[in-house]
Order: sequence, then C-alpha cells, then structure tokens
Amino acid sequence: MLYIVATPIWNLEDITYRAVRILKEVDFIACEDTRTSWVLLKHYDISKPLLSFHSYSGQTKVDKIIDLLKEWKDVAVISDAGTPGISDPWYVLVQKALSENIEISPIPWPSAVITALSASGLQSNHFLYLGFLPVKKWRQTLFLRLQEKKDETVVIYESVHRLIRTLKDLEKYFWEEHYIVVGRELTKKFEEFRRWSIKEVLEYFEKTPGKLKGEFVVMF
Ligand code: SAM
Repeated sequence: MLYIVATPIWNLEDITYRAVRILKEVDFIACEDTRTSWVLLKHYDISKPLLSFHSYSGQTKVDKIIDLLKEWKDVAVISDAGTPGISDPWYVLVQKALSENIEISPIPWPSAVITALSASGLQSNHFLYLGFLPVKKWRQTLFLRLQEKKDETVVIYESVHRLIRTLKDLEKYFWEEHYIVVGRELTKKFEEFRRWSIKEVLEYFEKTPGKLKGEFVVMF
C-alpha cells in the first residue's frame, strides 16, 4: 500500500494521530529532503528507512519505490511540508503507482493553500489554485487570463525571492487598489496576514525588509 501522508507545514503539533500511526507502521518512508524529514520523524519518535525523491531524481527513484510496493512493502510518502502532491514532485509517483494498480490511501491534513484560505476572509467556496507561477514562459498569458476571472478566489504560492516581482505584476495587470490577502509564515512564530490593496501590500513588503522573509501564500 502507498500512503500519501500529510505532515505539518511547520508547527509540529499539526499532525493527525493516524498520520503518526501510519508512519510508525510502514516499512519505508519516502521523502524529499531527508534532513528535513529526519527532524520531523525524530520528534514523533519514528525510525524507518528513508527513501529520498526530488523533482530532479528521475525515473530510477520512482521505479525503486514502485518495486518495493510490488514486493508488498508498505511505503508512506511525506513532503518537506504539508500535503504531498501539492506543488511538489509526488504526483509523478502517484501516477506511476496507479498505472501499476497499486493501492493508494491518502492521510489528510490541510496544506498551505487550505490553511491560508481558511483565514483569508476571501470567498473560498470556489477557488483557483495555481501553485507557483511560471517564471518566464506563460507568465504574461496567465496574468492576462486572470484579468478575466469572475468569482473564484485565486491562490498562488510564492517564495521570498519572487514575492515582490509577483506583487508588481499583480499591480500591473490589476487595479492597484485591488484587494489581496498575503499569508506569511503560517503556523510559525511570525505568522501574519496582510489584507490590503495590492499597492499597500507591495509597499509594506518593500519598506519592511524584516517582513520579506519566509514562505508566502498570495490570494485575491
Ligand atoms: N506540499 C506543500 C503544501 O501542502 O502546501 C507545498 C510545498 S511548496 C514546495 C512550498 C510553498 O508552499 C512555499 O513556497 C509557500 O508558498 C507555501 N507554504 C508552505 N508552507 C507555508 C507556510 N508555513 N506559510 C506560508 N506559505 C507556506
């Protein structure tokens, strides 16, 4: 069985009993950065053989995990943070496992997208999750398409290196007074939400360098 196990986006208290039990029961745990996962697993007193997998790992590592599953080993997949498969490489393994008729079971917990949306105050019955925006190709096309969006809330993941660029693009393609919400460092010590116009949020992050740190979810 392949278990897709969601783990905290930071705060180690944010995990389900079932996730801990499954991680303790499986034969192997597949993860992205073994150092990151080791910290998490040590916290819950879990000691299992780790298999690492990155977006650049290639087919061999996927095949190795698939081979173990075919030998009836139980493998749990965890990502560096949150739900595996949400803006990380794990969907490749899920697709391959499905093509091999391997049973898959998800062990849920919200990812950063759901965590951010739940406290955003924006309409969240319909939303468009875009993950990380393309850096070059399609970026402009995507923004032009977004200008036409009607009711749904758009959710974007952003890194510290590209937040300002994305906010400037939003200012360019939308009205500068357009209301947005930026969630930063969710579940961490310096968690904050900024619920202002694009212009105000941009000014805030440009003029307060101490706040231009960590991980971001942008919503509008
Ligand atoms: N699998 C993860 C999930 O379920 O949300 C997402 C992994 S993706 C590689 C990392 C991005 O998620 C970050 O750049 C950021 O945009 C967002 N993110 C993850 N943790 C976050 C947090 N604690 N606060 C704000 N954004 C976060």
